[in-house]
Amino acid sequence: MPRDPRFDILFEPVKIGPLTAKNRFFQVPHCNGMGHAKPRSHAAMRGVKAEGGWAVVSTEEVEIHPSSDLSPYVEGRLWDDRDVPALALIAAAVHAHGALAAIELAHAGINSANHYSREAAIGPSHCVSPYSYAPAQARAMTKADIRAYRRWHRAAALRARRAGFDVIYVYAAHDLSLAMHFLLARHNRRTDEYGGSLTNRARLLRELLEDTKEAVCDRCAVALRLAVDERRGADGLASSGEGRELVEMFAELPDLWDVNLSGWANDSVTSRFAPEGFQEEFVRFVKTVTSKPVVGVGRFTSPDMMVSQVRRGVLDMIGAARPSIADPFLPRKIETGDIDDIRECIGCNVCVSGDYTATPIRCTQNPTMGEEWRKGWHPEYVPRAAGDDRFLIVGAGPAGLECARLLGRRGCRVDLAEACADLGGRVAHESRLPGLGAWARVRDYRVQQLRKMPEVQIYRDSMVSAEQIFEFGANRVVLATGASWRRDGVGRANRFPIAGFERADVFTPDDLFGGQIPSSPVVIFDDDHYYLGGLLAERLRAQGRAVSLATPASLPSAWTVNTLEQPAIHRRLLEIGVDILTQHNALSYDGRELQLACVVTGRRSRVPAASVVTVTSRLPNDGLALALAAAPDRLAAAGIVSIASIGDCYVPGTIAAAVYAGHRHAREFDGADGDDVGFRRELPDLG
Ligand code: ADP
Ligand code: SF4
Repeated sequence: MPRDPRFDILFEPVKIGPLTAKNRFFQVPHCNGMGHAKPRSHAAMRGVKAEGGWAVVSTEEVEIHPSSDLSPYVEGRLWDDRDVPALALIAAAVHAHGALAAIELAHAGINSANHYSREAAIGPSHCVSPYSYAPAQARAMTKADIRAYRRWHRAAALRARRAGFDVIYVYAAHDLSLAMHFLLARHNRRTDEYGGSLTNRARLLRELLEDTKEAVCDRCAVALRLAVDERRGADGLASSGEGRELVEMFAELPDLWDVNLSGWANDSVTSRFAPEGFQEEFVRFVKTVTSKPVVGVGRFTSPDMMVSQVRRGVLDMIGAARPSIADPFLPRKIETGDIDDIRECIGCNVCVSGDYTATPIRCTQNPTMGEEWRKGWHPEYVPRAAGDDRFLIVGAGPAGLECARLLGRRGCRVDLAEACADLGGRVAHESRLPGLGAWARVRDYRVQQLRKMPEVQIYRDSMVSAEQIFEFGANRVVLATGASWRRDGVGRANRFPIAGFERADVFTPDDLFGGQIPSSPVVIFDDDHYYLGGLLAERLRAQGRAVSLATPASLPSAWTVNTLEQPAIHRRLLEIGVDILTQHNALSYDGRELQLACVVTGRRSRVPAASVVTVTSRLPNDGLALALAAAPDRLAAAGIVSIASIGDCYVPGTIAAAVYAGHRHAREFDGADGDDVGFRRELPDLG
């Protein structure tokens, strides 16, 4: 299909210093949990982005020195010459598709835990890191330290150029780099020419920019990534104050401005807490101050929104981390007029949890993310299946839908049966919770794709029985029947049912999804610790219920620390009047009160509860799987050669895990069985 002319502006080239980007799509730096530890996986992932049409593809933050050691987190690393080959792999993978390769040089300053290198952390002044609970401090840099740091940065820039990078970043954002630590009065208490006035606090940043330009400007462009607003008012950088003054101070010095919000939770805010384009009000002034190209982010997935940003003079280049993770081929799809095929980011930050858990990046929408090298999965291409298998998939949740989509792409005949009128399984329910509307994209993208596939038939309102499976005529059966929330309270803290949870006034999330509204006051017992307990509290408050949330964890929705959301969830629950009881386990319920016990002291207490909502764990809906397994003769007679349980009906997990399971089955059903690991590994070279 030809490109819609209204998107032509997105494909105009942009001059960046001595270079030209072929279009306005810029994959800004993002962590990926592969970094220096898994260089082939990392390079392949960046290469796929370049193939997908991004004009510039960047690394994540790259540590430039052992005193900036972020272990156990896995970032890029450029400590000495031996790191050059791994980074060169990335630059080469990006160049192979005609894109520019960018590298974000970073020194983590006061946030460097240095667990591996055992170097002393350094910063503008003596201080502890606001982000680390390690019993360690950063020491104030002497003038000699500052000179050394400039030397390291310059050496890193030269090595980056040698590795083949085109755009070299100076990084002063997220409160995660030394250059930014010097900018901030709350960290920088120096009394010499590097402290005090903003001009003094910005001296080091100016020197870094000048050093880097002097070192590499013959061939490379120098980008400045600056947080122009920290959303903490006068206590930090603000686009109405020092954030703007900094842009004015350095207006024409960098070849490109990459501007955003700080800290990371403000920059990568989830869709639950901010809409697409949310950074505009903070960054739009930048283009009025500089003539250099400006890139910014905002979870952009809508081509019209992108065009609007450019036409209205907000941004020159559309920056994206998450949208490029969810769909590495986003620019290409706009270019070829296939915007209906864009797999839009849902803003869930499961990708961020990879960095937080120091494991390779995972994406809810894009199951191939992080699997490009180790499994050889491509986000757009998949080999056609040989043979004429006919599939019956039971259940159209995330697992069933993704499995059907990919089998359809492989040319298989598929019948997809869903018990409900609505497709989407848990996503259909959860996307109706406050703020989770964008999560419906998990369903909508797949249903939209399936509509175009004549080989896939969808049957709604079709509850499938074992008997029907025997008679259906498919030779391969995929069960994607999901899971159900437990009513008995068994979860992390309780391995046996909680006394009284068999009562009719105890509800599960499934009951609430089904429209039941527990009576007030209601206590949510959250032993799941992810988003659902907090969201149900929010919904019940909106329905006028008095709500308490009791959890054995130390924080409400504790695991959302890994998606950058926990503080925002906590704040919202307090603001809407949810009574939060942390470190409390549920012991029993009598219809009037929930008896709790402090998980530390065992001290007992009671909280009034006309009803209880229990969010603890789930059980697989495995009835069909058990019934089929009990009838091998019938299966053989029906010609059924394989039965697979995928997603939550195999083992309950995240939506991302269910999508991955559906994708994996469709890719691998015809592969060799065996006890192999199932993916390529990057092992230490002992040569
Ligand atoms: P997953 O996350 O693994 O995809 P979900 O719970 O989101 O699981 O979706 C499972 C879907 O399967 C639900 O939409 C449910 O209605 C459907 N389902 C469960 N049992 C049957 C069945 N016997 N026949 C048809 N559909 C079923
Ligand atoms: Fe977007 Fe979620 Fe994928 Fe991250 S994991 S890119 S937030 S869909």
